[in-house]
Amino acid sequence: MDKKKTYVIIIAVLGLIGAAIFLYLGRDTSGSVFQPVNVSRSTTEAEKIFPPPDGTIYRMGLYLDVGNQLVLGQSVVETENNTGRALSELYFTVYPNAFQTREKSPMPSSAYRHGFNPGWLKLDTMEVNGQQVPCQQDELSLMALLPEDILPGQAVKIEMTWETRIPQAAYRLGTCDGVMMLSHIYPVLNVWKSGEWLLSQNISFGDPFCFQCADYLVKLNVPSEYQIISTGVVLGREADPGGRDTLLIQAERARDFVLVAAPTYQTLQQKEMDTILRCHVLPGYEEAGKEVLVRAARMFKYYSCTFGSYPYREFDIVQVPMEGFQGMEYSGVIFLCREAFGPAYGEARQDFLLAHEIAHQWWFGLVGNDQLREPWLDEGLANWSAWSYLRERDGKNAAARISPDYQTDLGRSLSEMSGREEYFNLAYRNGERFWRELEHELGNKKVIEVLRSYLAEYRYQLASAADLHAVIEKEAGQDMTPLFKKWFQSARMAGKKSTVGE
Ligand SMILES: [Zn+2]
Repeated sequence: MDKKKTYVIIIAVLGLIGAAIFLYLGRDTSGSVFQPVNVSRSTTEAEKIFPPPDGTIYRMGLYLDVGNQLVLGQSVVETENNTGRALSELYFTVYPNAFQTREKSPMPSSAYRHGFNPGWLKLDTMEVNGQQVPCQQDELSLMALLPEDILPGQAVKIEMTWETRIPQAAYRLGTCDGVMMLSHIYPVLNVWKSGEWLLSQNISFGDPFCFQCADYLVKLNVPSEYQIISTGVVLGREADPGGRDTLLIQAERARDFVLVAAPTYQTLQQKEMDTILRCHVLPGYEEAGKEVLVRAARMFKYYSCTFGSYPYREFDIVQVPMEGFQGMEYSGVIFLCREAFGPAYGEARQDFLLAHEIAHQWWFGLVGNDQLREPWLDEGLANWSAWSYLRERDGKNAAARISPDYQTDLGRSLSEMSGREEYFNLAYRNGERFWRELEHELGNKKVIEVLRSYLAEYRYQLASAADLHAVIEKEAGQDMTPLFKKWFQSARMAGKKSTVGE
């Protein structure tokens, strides 16, 4: 490339960064790249789930202080009260507060490589629509008591300054061996549905969250030697004085926003369909990373062609030091534990893990669900999708009949489960069995039609088991209540949509 072209590109990139920073700091969002695409959908009578995914934006300024394990943050969240009633309070998940004490920390002790090390989120200020609001904290939840109700249809602007400490630990929120894994580091607006706030809970297994999609525009300041892997797309990176860089990152309609910061990754990439797939590996794992990327691309293509297209421009697979989970899903990003790239892990096991985590991009990412109260929805489907891909790849035909475990109750929430073992048995294994039985009953072609329809109807939204029940009935053209009754002991799911909440 000649010098003139390089110069023009640099000017263009700087212009883009300047314009975006202006938008980020600016009071006026008219003409923003975040114009809602389909506002009417989120305001229909049938869906009153707050915050609306097509009208919510997080603008954040983050400063990463590596030495002190801190992220200094400013957030401006803009949304709309689409609940149809006045809101007198707002709730947020402040996940880092799960790690304040050893007794309550959800991490296994093996994650604390050098003994307990705390994590927390400290809120400095919060204003809602220009007024300072008092807040109350209870473990993972932060409640803002509004001095004035937010009326139906009213715009909501929340401005916060906060500070998050990252615990020294090999966990999804932690810093270990020079890798900073930054999951849910900022206050996340909770979901309100049918008159109820769906709060997160501090549970040591699974994903005790329920989040809506939103747009993100993030200005991130980091030491220059740090590589950044994140949800969305890096629009630009500029060097600042003092050995630091500022990045501008944009993500549209993302379920959550995650960051990984480290100076040591090797990055491999390839394009599949319209998405750039990247695999980021720690030193010494380059060959394994190449293999993983090739396999991931096949899975990605299979899911895109089978279930429906993947809308994001980038997808990242990141190798991280992580205990307690083999893999972890985020919008546009998956974490895989370091061991999953080693020869001892085993190829078949690695294939299944990779196929499961990639499937979450569809089931969790695009079609969201309440992972705390209905964890089988995304876990069971991710497992069935992985199993289904591997069966097709290996040239096997019809689904083998498996013995269903009707003693189970797929309707159980994480908080009702006795522990990790019940969680895996119920959400993963029995969740997968539900789909295998459905396939046995309706045939593979029909199940794929169900899933295509489920994705089309709930893309960027939240779906419940009752919503899925309705989609299956519509596609199957028959009453599916007998099947659901077998898998749900509790009355709340045995019926259809109208019974939910009873
Ligand atoms: Zn999973």
